[in-house]
Amino acid sequence: MTVYLVGAGPGDPGLITRRGLELISQAEVIVHDRLIPTELLAQARPDALILDVGKRGGGSSTPQEEIDRLLVEHGSRTVVRLKGGDPFVFGRGGEEVEALLAAGIPFDVVPGVTAGVAAPAAAGIPVTHRSAASAVAFVTGHEDPAKAEVGGTKSSLDWDALARFPGTLVVYMGARQLEAIAQRLISGGREPDEPAAVIERGTLPDQRVLEGTLRTVGRLGARAPAIAVLGSVAALRHQLPLAGLSVAVTRARAQASSLVARLRSLGAAVLEAPAIRIEPIDGPVPDLEPYDLVCLTSPNGVRFLFDRLAAVGRDARALGAAWVAAIGPGTAAALRQYGVIADVVPEEFTAEGLLEALTDQPVERVLVARAAEARDVLVNTLRDRGAEVDVLPLYETVAEPLSAEQRAAAGQADYVTFTSSSTVKFFLQSTGGQPPQGRIVSIGPITSATLREHGLEPHVEASRHDIDGVVQALLDDVARR
Ligand code: SAH
Repeated sequence: MTVYLVGAGPGDPGLITRRGLELISQAEVIVHDRLIPTELLAQARPDALILDVGKRGGGSSTPQEEIDRLLVEHGSRTVVRLKGGDPFVFGRGGEEVEALLAAGIPFDVVPGVTAGVAAPAAAGIPVTHRSAASAVAFVTGHEDPAKAEVGGTKSSLDWDALARFPGTLVVYMGARQLEAIAQRLISGGREPDEPAAVIERGTLPDQRVLEGTLRTVGRLGARAPAIAVLGSVAALRHQLPLAGLSVAVTRARAQASSLVARLRSLGAAVLEAPAIRIEPIDGPVPDLEPYDLVCLTSPNGVRFLFDRLAAVGRDARALGAAWVAAIGPGTAAALRQYGVIADVVPEEFTAEGLLEALTDQPVERVLVARAAEARDVLVNTLRDRGAEVDVLPLYETVAEPLSAEQRAAAGQADYVTFTSSSTVKFFLQSTGGQPPQGRIVSIGPITSATLREHGLEPHVEASRHDIDGVVQALLDDVARR
């Protein structure tokens, strides 16, 4: 019926448009490149036909004519042609559109976030800046400028004009030719000391940023996929408060993304060293009818509670008239996703804070839905107050072994963040008790106590016990030093 050319964004699965995601979930056929976030395919219909036409392992990709032919062949169905970044920025989307036009197949284009803007942004580099660059050029680094001219085949790019371009040059597909490109720009008159940066695998967990000048950028050892930023904006990342600092994040990979993204956007080099993993526990579907209060102590708890309910076709209505208490704003936000507005959210995001907020709440039967292993203070205190309390264990935290590189990198990072007691326990288990060399950041008093039990004194403790609080505490510490 229609072929949708959809931009998948630069790598972080959160950077696709809403419309793109909606189309993925409806498509009968998905034809995708290699450089797309594979998580997005999990949103496809179970019966969707998924065709990978990308290059892999140095092998060759499906030729463009073959891709054009595939799109036309399936054009009587709902097809999503999923392309990395934006479909029209060095994506050969134009050629696919021509093939569809020629075949009379209706099509639509859904733009995407292009790597040339997103990867620099993730490294703290704005591609334009009021005082540093009022223009930006997107350039393909595909062709070697020297060869193109020496060999007689004329380059499609005017390198002398690009050398004089008064603004930022953003080079796609240039990892291999960077040295030749930089030399050509210098011989065209561009300033050799101009700042330059290369962002490899931008927006992805293993993003790497290399820095230098136009003179050195070709020798930094950049590997594809990478974006090179040539221009004075490349130096602006040093204005960011965490520039030049490395920060290790020990929380579970599935939960780390918001903290990782925040730290990166402040200029930090983030090392992911997930010491824990969250696993749901199988169990019966809870009957929530008898409870007048349901307490949720983490976003995971919310998710796994609703997963259990959904498995038998139930939803938020199972909560009936019960009061719902969330331990903090993250848990409250998770509840909102299921259409539930928490009745109680304490000012201090701990079990003690929640108990304080519940002081005047008369309750008889309480359900505490939480991790298998958790502190008893909430349950015990509610019992002391005369309530009948049931505990519903929904998930457990298990150790995630760290690789030797992760251990070494985290051990040497300037800061190591611990966002729960279990990250402390399992991190130290994984390092064989070896403490990190950098400054230790704790999310709050409970995690700090666990650190002390293991003989480590936190250098920084967040006064707000959530991700925002951790980031703020880190910023304050950097500012003080
Ligand atoms: N249409 C895509 C670009 C396709 S060309 C877009 O709009 O982003 C492929 C090139 O994009 C790669 O060689 C690399 O230069 C760049 N690229 C794609 N994803 C990237 C990422 N996550 N980080 C850095 N560069 C990336």
